[in-house]
Amino acid sequence: MSTSVVPPAPIGSAPPFEHHRRGREHGGRVLVLNATYEPINVCTVRRAVVLLLKEKAEVLERASWELRGEHTSVPRPMVIRLRTYVRVPRDTHRRKITRRAVFARDGWACQYCGTRGSLTVDHVIPRSKGGPSSWDNIVASCAPCNRRKADLLPRQVGMALRRAPRTPGPQVFIQVASPTIPAAWRQYLPEAA
Ligand SMILES: [Zn+2]
Repeated sequence: MSTSVVPPAPIGSAPPFEHHRRGREHGGRVLVLNATYEPINVCTVRRAVVLLLKEKAEVLERASWELRGEHTSVPRPMVIRLRTYVRVPRDTHRRKITRRAVFARDGWACQYCGTRGSLTVDHVIPRSKGGPSSWDNIVASCAPCNRRKADLLPRQVGMALRRAPRTPGPQVFIQVASPTIPAAWRQYLPEAA
């Protein structure tokens, strides 16, 4: 399965524009929307400029400053939209179960008591009882809840999940890739507001 929604640039292709003022705008990330305006990905400024020059994408939001090229300058893209619809493979979002992605999905809150401190990752059905490392069996849990639950099922210790864990959508991965959501992205990420 492809690991990237936006196809990689051809090897050896020179970046047409240097990222002027590198590091200023949230690590030089650009929000990528599908043709349907659904947010699907985050890419580098260079990658976005390549897509724009090839007319595979259009700019929806730009920064007030420009990227300097050899012969011309272009506004620094903040949000781009693909001109043709890309089918987002389900596996793209099922693939990576990282601590950050679990915490982001769960709103950085313990799924048992709601506290926001000292988060750990908990297997709802413990691994020792055959619980899989899958999105529907892993939740954010504070350390005290995790210790209390130990190697048991939640109901065995009188604990309950606040909501059933599920595979997250692309927005969670966008948040993980760009912990600080630029203001220009917000209107395209209703859940991140
Ligand atoms: Zn807790």
